[in-house]
Amino acid sequence: MQHDGHGATPIRLALVGIGKIAQDQHIPALQSDKSFELVAAVSRSGGIENLPCFTDIGDLLESGLDVDAVSLATPPQGRHAIAGAALDAGLHVMLEKPPAATVSEVADLAARARAAGVTLFTTWHSREAASVDAARDWLAGKTLRSARIDWREDIRVWHPGQEWILQPGGLGVFDPGINALSIVTAILADPLLLQSARLEFPANRQAPIAAQLSLRSGEAAAEAAFDFLQTGPQSWDIVLETDSGRLVLSDGGQRLAIDGAEISAGTDEEYPRLYRRFASLVRASASDVDLAPLQLVADAFLLGERVEVPPFSF
Ligand code: NAP
Repeated sequence: MQHDGHGATPIRLALVGIGKIAQDQHIPALQSDKSFELVAAVSRSGGIENLPCFTDIGDLLESGLDVDAVSLATPPQGRHAIAGAALDAGLHVMLEKPPAATVSEVADLAARARAAGVTLFTTWHSREAASVDAARDWLAGKTLRSARIDWREDIRVWHPGQEWILQPGGLGVFDPGINALSIVTAILADPLLLQSARLEFPANRQAPIAAQLSLRSGEAAAEAAFDFLQTGPQSWDIVLETDSGRLVLSDGGQRLAIDGAEISAGTDEEYPRLYRRFASLVRASASDVDLAPLQLVADAFLLGERVEVPPFSF
C-alpha cells in the first residue's frame, strides 16, 4: 500500500548516494521531520547505520521493501537512470541540484512522473536560504538597473577529492554557480538571458574551474563571476541596483541588506524546508520541476568562449 504522508502516516523514503551532502544535510533533515520515515539507503560504499542498504536502485525495487519515495544525493551524472527507474516503479522522487546531467533528461523525468502519477521535485536548496524570500518581496514592483553575482569558493575545501565534479556532466564551477542562478531566477521579475560567457577549463579537465557570464534581465545588465580557486574569504554574494536602492544578498542568501542596512538574517534551514516542501507536494499529488537554472548553465556551455588554464589537481 502506498503511504502518501497524509495524517500520521509518514512517507517511507530511501536515500540514494550517501556522500557529503547526504551526511551533512539530508540525513539530519529527514531524521527530524515526522512526515518521513528513512527506511533504506542505496549506496555503493556502506549506507546508513542500522538501515537496510542496497547497492543499486534495481535491488531496492526488487527487494519487496515498502517504500514510497526516493531522494537522490548522487552526482548529476547517472541520476536520470536512477530517477527514471524509481518513477516508473511508482515512487515519488526528490532530486538534489542540479536535477540531472542534461536539460533533456529532466524533461523526460517530468513526463515520466506525470505518466506514473507521482511527484517529481527538482530542488534548489539555495532558494530556501533564510533571506531569499525577503529579497523577492523587497524587489516586487521595483525596477532593476543592474545585477552583479560573485560566487567564489575553494573547491579543495568544499569538494575535496570529488573527481566527478570536473568530469563531463559534473558542471565544474557551475556546481556552486548554479546555486546563485537558482536564487536570481527566483527573485527577478524578468527572465535572465545569457549574452556571452568565458569558461576557463584546466588543461587536464573536462569542466570549467572558473566562468564569467554576461546576462540581461529586462533592460538591466547582469554580470556573474564564478571561481572555484578562491582561497581566503569565500564569497556568495548578489548585488542588485534598483530604482529604489541597493540590495545585497550575501552568505549564499542568508543575509539581506538594503542600502547598507541589514534587514534580514537567519540560520541555515535549507534542507528542512526542502523536505517540508517535498512532503506537501506528495500530499497534494503535485510536482515542482524548474529548469531555469540548469538551462542557463546549458546556455553558457552553448555560447561560452573556452579558455585553457593550468592543470588542476586536488
Ligand atoms: P559526494 O560527496 O561525492 O557524494 C556523492 C555520493 O553519490 C557518493 O558518496 C556515492 O555514494 C554516490 N555516487 C553514485 N555514483 C557516483 C559516482 N559515479 N561518482 C561519485 N559518487 C557517486 O558529492 P556531494 O558533495 O554529496 O554532492 C552530491 C550532489 O549534492 C551534487 O549534485 C551536488 O551538487 C549536491 N550538493 C552538494 C553540496 C556540498 O556541499 N557538497 C551542497 C549542496 C548540494 P555511495 O558511495 O553511497 O554510493
